[in-house]
Amino acid sequence: MTWALSRVVVTGGAGFLGSHLADRLLADGAEVICVDNLITGSRHNVRHLAGDPRFTLRTDDVSAAWTIDGPVDAVLHFASLASPVDYLRHPLATLEVGTLGTRNALRMAEDKGARFLMASTSEVYGDPAVHPQTETYWGNVNPIGPRSVYDESKRVSESFTMAFNRARGVDVRIARIFNTFGPRMREQDGRAVPQFITQALAGEPITVYGDGSQTRSLCYVDDLIEGLMRLLRSNYTLPVNLGNPHEVTMLELAGLVRDSCSSESPIELHPLPVDDPKRRCPDVTVARRELDWQANVPLEEALRRTVAWWRTGRAAD
Ligand code: UDP
Repeated sequence: MTWALSRVVVTGGAGFLGSHLADRLLADGAEVICVDNLITGSRHNVRHLAGDPRFTLRTDDVSAAWTIDGPVDAVLHFASLASPVDYLRHPLATLEVGTLGTRNALRMAEDKGARFLMASTSEVYGDPAVHPQTETYWGNVNPIGPRSVYDESKRVSESFTMAFNRARGVDVRIARIFNTFGPRMREQDGRAVPQFITQALAGEPITVYGDGSQTRSLCYVDDLIEGLMRLLRSNYTLPVNLGNPHEVTMLELAGLVRDSCSSESPIELHPLPVDDPKRRCPDVTVARRELDWQANVPLEEALRRTVAWWRTGRAAD
């Protein structure tokens, strides 16, 4: 845990997770170069870093040609359209960043002799037939469904990552990130937590899809960033699930968000999106064993902090 990072590239560094990572890396003493085409990321997420000489935001498209001058210790590949709403709206950009973007980021890591960390996802398990999901489970993904642009490009990202490791000797880490939320998610993000908070605070109906019995396991962003940093500094090169195993139904989540917002919004049922996974929960045995990591912030507290930011932090931004 003593590796002193001096210069790190974060693709997607103006996004939700990328910007929190940039904060953490700067706090740990590194110079940070974010590469983000701002398709879903925002300058706003990193505006507080603008005056820091150790921070740079480059608006290149990681799926196209891009270069970085000088040495780099680590490339963290977080550029992606992570919300179902976004990846269904931009299917080709999603495929490109998850294939060409990943290859380009790996080439950069190879050129620089840098460690590479891939932001993979629980979506590699698709609509899982194994519960909770262990890293050894190969998944259940529809290769031609609307979600496939995300799921399959993340799966091929993992394949690229392992191939660069095996064929080119790139030092790699793979984080399979389960549903995570917190400050800096966009109001229009479309994922359950930001959508429910936006609706509850406006007193509008909370839109639960299907009958709301599908589950997710939600992690607070600070916990996830700690897990990612531990993975980056570890010696473990196989995929690691990072998430909070506390599993809730979407109907329960809607109620918890409504309570956190002191809202009286009604809950409305809407059609379930195609191929929406029915259950999702990480088995975090590997993260505990290899990283001595587990999520610590309880769901209610995580919601409280996020709602507080939604009310005041966002307004103050
Ligand atoms: N969901 C919902 N209402 C919304 C947005 C999402 O009921 O307004 C459901 C969605 O169908 C899924 C779950 O919440 O079952 C989590 O969706 P999200 O988009 O947050 O992430 P996913 O895990 O599907 O990538």
